[in-house]
Amino acid sequence: MLHSDPNTDDHRTIWTSDAARAVFDQPLMDLLFRAQTVHRRHFDPNRVQLSRLLSIKTGGCPEDCSYCSQSSRHNSGLSASKLMEVQRVIAEARRARDAGATRYCMGAAWRSPKARDMPQIVAMIEGVKALGMETCMTLGMLDADQSAQLAEAGLDYYNHNIDTSEAHYANVITTRTFAERLDTLEAVRQAGIKVCSGGILGLGEGSQDRVDMLVTLANLPSPPDSVPINMLIPVAGTPLEDAAPVDPIDFVRMIATARIMMPRAHVRLSAGRTAMTDELQAMCFFAGANSIFVGDTLLTKDNPEEEADMRLFAKLGLTPMVAHEHAPDEARRAELLAADPAIPILR
Ligand code: SF4
Repeated sequence: MLHSDPNTDDHRTIWTSDAARAVFDQPLMDLLFRAQTVHRRHFDPNRVQLSRLLSIKTGGCPEDCSYCSQSSRHNSGLSASKLMEVQRVIAEARRARDAGATRYCMGAAWRSPKARDMPQIVAMIEGVKALGMETCMTLGMLDADQSAQLAEAGLDYYNHNIDTSEAHYANVITTRTFAERLDTLEAVRQAGIKVCSGGILGLGEGSQDRVDMLVTLANLPSPPDSVPINMLIPVAGTPLEDAAPVDPIDFVRMIATARIMMPRAHVRLSAGRTAMTDELQAMCFFAGANSIFVGDTLLTKDNPEEEADMRLFAKLGLTPMVAHEHAPDEARRAELLAADPAIPILR
């Protein structure tokens, strides 16, 4: 049942599939207007959070995610590496901070971290936090003890995507279940770490799967703080190498629907930006995306160069958020609303 309308109040909304589908299917101009209106109630619309992602352990993953070049079950030609040394991770994070990134995301191609890896992981979190950056990790499945250790080290965010709808999930991954994904998200939440969870478009799913993925995320005990929406970059040698491209307008619809259903989340344009024009990215920002990954590579895939991003920001009048900047406080929100002629409906 839909308990409340995020357009008109701040109460938690529990979404049905039908209610979410009605949002997703409305005429695009209505959807974009509503998404931008919700966005302005909760965020400064001209500020975008910049994250930098580093692969701290690449390839050789035992999981079989059919989109992923890092799975040892596919023939992408990617060779496996060992866990990166702590000092190198910290040096890379310092460079990212000096180039403007405020959140440092560290990813390892694991089913789950092993006990022997935890001291190194903890040292990475502590070292990156000491630089004044927000920290995020994606290490695969976590149990309660592992989550508690990461929380104790000061980890701000943990990324674990649900990837797609529960109905389509088994067509994409067979080595871990959708329920196990949710268990990890719950362990992370219970440990007090902020949850980053989203999915990927282009896995052969239909529109209903896309909507249902958002319903699962929005109806978690607490909606994720951060919602990455990825566009598949097909990789040769993976089962999805010939996947049909995602329609750009469908992608914008997903961003807008995510913004409306999770009004306080950072909605992140993640993998796939290399395939997006400036115009498409601008539409995504208007639809409520307010976070991107910056840097030349995104784990093992290309990402737009930073100069191109900064040129686009200048053209659009966007500015990067500072570290730990989230939704504006009530006073700033009131200021934004009062100063904004586009949303008289909300005054
Ligand atoms: S997506 Fe993650 S868990 Fe899945 S194969 Fe790739 S690295 Fe492993």
